[in-house]
Amino acid sequence: MDRRKFVTAAGAAGVLAACTKQQGSQVECSGQSSQQTFEWKMVTSWPRDFPGLGTNANRLAEKIGRLSNGRLKVKVYGGNELVPPFEVFDAVSQGTAEMGHSAAYYWKGKAPAAQFFAGIPFGLSAQELHGWFYFGGGMELWREVYEPFGIIPFLAGNSGPQMAGWFNREINSLDDLQGLKMRIPGLGGEILRRAGGTPQTIPGAELFTALQTGTIDATEWVGPYNDLAFGLFRAAKYYYYPGWHEPGTALECLVNRDAWDALPQDLRDIIEIASQASVVDTLSDFTYQNGKSLRILLDEHGVELRRLPDDVLIKLKQIGDDLMLELASDDELIGRILASLNAYYETVNPWTTISDRTLLNLRPEIDTF
Ligand code: CA
Repeated sequence: MDRRKFVTAAGAAGVLAACTKQQGSQVECSGQSSQQTFEWKMVTSWPRDFPGLGTNANRLAEKIGRLSNGRLKVKVYGGNELVPPFEVFDAVSQGTAEMGHSAAYYWKGKAPAAQFFAGIPFGLSAQELHGWFYFGGGMELWREVYEPFGIIPFLAGNSGPQMAGWFNREINSLDDLQGLKMRIPGLGGEILRRAGGTPQTIPGAELFTALQTGTIDATEWVGPYNDLAFGLFRAAKYYYYPGWHEPGTALECLVNRDAWDALPQDLRDIIEIASQASVVDTLSDFTYQNGKSLRILLDEHGVELRRLPDDVLIKLKQIGDDLMLELASDDELIGRILASLNAYYETVNPWTTISDRTLLNLRPEIDTF
């Protein structure tokens, strides 16, 4: 059978499947789309076209346009082009933009529960986190957190594990964190504060200058891919791992509720499916580019890679445990989110331990491929 003919026939069958024959000859197509077109704005927390973050937002907008055959056009704005990076949430809530692309921990000042939907210190890997969002009850809780703001959230990417960051002082013990002015958002920032440091929230585009001028002593950003793009290795001496505060950070697509309600069902489906596709797209991009960029940082720029000592990491985890208990007792919704995360962790961790961890631990002893 001619392949093109087959595809056309299958496409026609798909359209017909949405139609049901009513009394007489009337055919009603409940799933048939209207031909109305929509033009949306997407505001982002990233510099325009920034590798991995900005480019992922661009690809999501392109996917929506392509899948909808141009019926939903999404124009992407970098941080500060329409609104500042940290006003994305308000802009979508108020309808200044119909759509946003960001990370949920930036909104903890507006909704403290939001920070659990980006990265959880010492928490779930990207793969585990996606299981929680899509099948473990995470998505329903996230929608509940954003509901009072008239925003519908979608998972739209993941950076994978991040780096602990760039430091101009060595970290050999918890005492070395005393008085450390460090850019680190969300729950990780609060843990640093309790460990004696001073967390700052600074948009990515301002990090290099803040570090170079000594406004901050250290910064985390993302990982080799994004950190190389900002040239952070030129402003700090040591590059520390692991990214204890962000083991697999979720990126979000925000949609204004009224704008969503005005869309026909097929365009809503396209946003949902395009966001889901962006999760794979972004994590794949980060995985490959982080590997390439780490090699460039080490081989071409002579970056000094350091591992945070285990006792520092364990103490930070203990501070984090106390913080979680406190947050859960202060806020009923956070209590439910943490209960859901804990139940999920108890379910998946034994599996991750015998599967991923066993093979990863074996890697230093074997030559893969
Ligand atoms: Ca980060």
